[in-house]
Amino acid sequence: MKLRLSRLHHPVTVLGPGRRIGIWLQGCTIGCPGCVSRDTWVAEPRHDLEVAAVLDWVADRDPAEVDGVTITGGEPSEQPEALAELVTALGALGAGHDWDVLCYTGVELDEFRRRCPAAYPGIDALITGPYRAGEPTDLLWRGSANQRLVPCSERGRRRYAQWVDARRDRPELQLQVDDDRVWLIGIPGRGDLARVQRDLDARGIRLEGVSWRP
Ligand code: SF4
Repeated sequence: MKLRLSRLHHPVTVLGPGRRIGIWLQGCTIGCPGCVSRDTWVAEPRHDLEVAAVLDWVADRDPAEVDGVTITGGEPSEQPEALAELVTALGALGAGHDWDVLCYTGVELDEFRRRCPAAYPGIDALITGPYRAGEPTDLLWRGSANQRLVPCSERGRRRYAQWVDARRDRPELQLQVDDDRVWLIGIPGRGDLARVQRDLDARGIRLEGVSWRP
């Protein structure tokens, strides 16, 4: 089955605990004002990739450098069959390493379970709810105060219960450069992205397009 994929990164250290594999999906029709991932909204067929190819890439990572997998978007619940195949296979691949699967979704828990009944059992924790720019927060791994961290499985409760109400001291962003693209990974604070763009400008790095503006 094909997954609408935006990109893969490893290690990701700011979207969940430890060093993680990050899987960004492509396609989101929710359209939260202020979304920093507008580049993932359009589900272009050229971004399709077989789930098996994604798993090959995951299997090539050094397991000693992986604590879990974070799936984000794009909206994972808009491709429920591919998501189910992905998380089921990730569960098998990570079983010997105690990897957890954390998934972001812009819908609430009940709606996610309704949309994704086959994927839900393969997910250890969810971060639920749309991004609301008017509700800034310092809640760990979340962009707005309405978003909930929901441990779903036994492993998820063991690992994530301690972070349900945890707060971060300051926003953490990771910077990754691939060819002609600069990826900012993490949950920025208000004004952070404009500051990053100004800093890059000052160093002579001109961004031709950014994911947080139309
Ligand atoms: S924040 Fe998430 S759910 Fe909202 S528009 Fe962006 S990708 Fe979609």
